[in-house]
Amino acid sequence: MHKKLFIPGPVEVTPESLHDMAVPMVGHRSKDYEKIHAFCVDNVKKVLYTDKFIWIGTCSSTGLMEGAVLNLCKKKVLTVVVGAFSDRWHTIATANGKESERLDYEWGKAAKPEDIDKKLATGGFDLVTVVFNETSTGVMSPLKAITDVVKKYPDVILAVDAVSGMAAAKIEVDAWGIDYILAGTQKAWSLPPGLAVAAVSDRCFERAETVSNRGFYFDLLSAREYAAGKRTNQTPSTPVISLVYALGKQAERYSKDLEAHWAKHVEMAKLVCEWAKSRGFELFPEPGYESLSLTCITNTKGISVADLNSELGKRGYSLSNGYGKLKEKTFRIAHMGTMTLPEVRDLLLNVDDILGYK
Ligand SMILES: *Cc1c(COP(=O)(O)O)cnc(C)c1O
Repeated sequence: MHKKLFIPGPVEVTPESLHDMAVPMVGHRSKDYEKIHAFCVDNVKKVLYTDKFIWIGTCSSTGLMEGAVLNLCKKKVLTVVVGAFSDRWHTIATANGKESERLDYEWGKAAKPEDIDKKLATGGFDLVTVVFNETSTGVMSPLKAITDVVKKYPDVILAVDAVSGMAAAKIEVDAWGIDYILAGTQKAWSLPPGLAVAAVSDRCFERAETVSNRGFYFDLLSAREYAAGKRTNQTPSTPVISLVYALGKQAERYSKDLEAHWAKHVEMAKLVCEWAKSRGFELFPEPGYESLSLTCITNTKGISVADLNSELGKRGYSLSNGYGKLKEKTFRIAHMGTMTLPEVRDLLLNVDDILGYK
């Protein structure tokens, strides 16, 4: 039996999207592919409120995190760490021989613009990495305010991992002035994994032009050369064509009524937060920074999350235990992408039934 996924990625994929992926193959150097690529980029731009270059990467999200570090850092990265995924930026930076200084927060806390400001003021940084929606803790950091602070430093580029937040929360990439923001398709884009996208500003290209060891697969300048240079609407190596097409279709669907799409996420998050509190649980994130795409619930009632999940499994649902050290201490319910309010309600009714909350 298929278990409906309420885990923070991969999430459910609708039959429409599965159907989109079943297109006949085309050559990646053909006009047919160029059309697919352009269609995808145009629609993704609408969802991100941007006119910037859209990097299409055949990789999971982590690939374009690595891409950011490889192309955008010459001196030193300020890595803002609020959980497991932001910690990954630090690992990526050091694995690529870049110097990374951490700004650490206790898990459950959000990144604060004033702390980032203070750190940047000490000098020496040319890249800041943040995670907008920290999937391990269910915390959404104040991205616009962080962007405003980083803008005070003309030599510093901001790279944002919005993997589980992009296409779930309204992010106005151009109006806010975000330099680099990335996500993968298996989170709020509600598609299978294997494709990552990033909006990339001109400043990023200017920086990349001055960086000598950008690697090969994630060389930003090579991506531009194929998409908007010597060639157009292509990628340096063979892309995951079916997903590029399905992403274009999904972005087109979302962009038909973006405000309703954002509002739906607010409502789903509110429903799960209120459910958790009314059943005597607490929310793990510090108040005011709860994610709109997944709710991380503190297991104050000491239930067995593993048992709950195995009972849910028999009924065709799956939620997520806490991440890493938060296992059994928290559990997570994802509500993103094409998921709907009635589906979330249905899951909660089943959780109530299993736990005997009626
Ligand atoms: C899922 C996730 C990642 C990793 O994504 P992959 O697609 O597995 O590379 C990175 N950051 C955040 C915030 C995530 O939620």
